[in-house]
Amino acid sequence: MDKLYKIIYCDDLRIHMAVIHDIAEKIYFPEEFDTEENRAESVVVASIGSVLASDLKEANSSVTVMLRNVVKGITYSVTAQQDGRVCGAVCGYSKGVLNDGYILEVVRRSGIGRDYSSVVCGSTIESVVDEYITGSMQRKAILKIYGNTAVFAEELPFTSIIEKGAEALKVLEKDSSVSALKESDGFRIVEESELSYGCTCTKRSVKKALVAALAGENVSSLEEKIEVSCKLCGKKYYIEKTEL
Ligand SMILES: [Zn+2]
Repeated sequence: MDKLYKIIYCDDLRIHMAVIHDIAEKIYFPEEFDTEENRAESVVVASIGSVLASDLKEANSSVTVMLRNVVKGITYSVTAQQDGRVCGAVCGYSKGVLNDGYILEVVRRSGIGRDYSSVVCGSTIESVVDEYITGSMQRKAILKIYGNTAVFAEELPFTSIIEKGAEALKVLEKDSSVSALKESDGFRIVEESELSYGCTCTKRSVKKALVAALAGENVSSLEEKIEVSCKLCGKKYYIEKTEL
């Protein structure tokens, strides 16, 4: 089961931890991208998305994390809702000016529909994540990934993330499972919730996006039945031309 933990470390750090198992299996992979290595990277993106969404305060807000592996020409896209629903899809990506490394794009959607988007690039997943947290979000925080677990640690007032973060991460580096976090070492789990696979798409929302994409174009050349996939979860919808 996929879980999200909120933890306090020594009254100095606020830690959010997302552990992904099942959700990754449901992320939509077209056949050409379905390899073990790519699945492992999709787990990383799902855990980053989940942990970033856990930081959202407003209801109905969400985070979309798109990680592009430039060498492989592939994009992992995960959308995590503030309520714990997570979905994702994998698709191709055509190279731009970069020849290698990773591009990370994060879109935060507030409940009232305002979007904040930022893009960073770097040579490793770790470096793009670091750049996003400290550069784009301007947070005194650390986001680390240990296999299927993402850990977001932020200092509470009057602490230094550098010292305290290093202390807490030393424990997590050895063993990132929740059972390794002991009260006697200063870890206190204050909240535990479930993460589940789920998308907010409906035939109506997909149709709306299709209409917007076709804006002004002549629909007479289209097939009678149009296949449209949700770009967040990959679910296929069929829309009759007459419905447009
Ligand atoms: Zn969907």
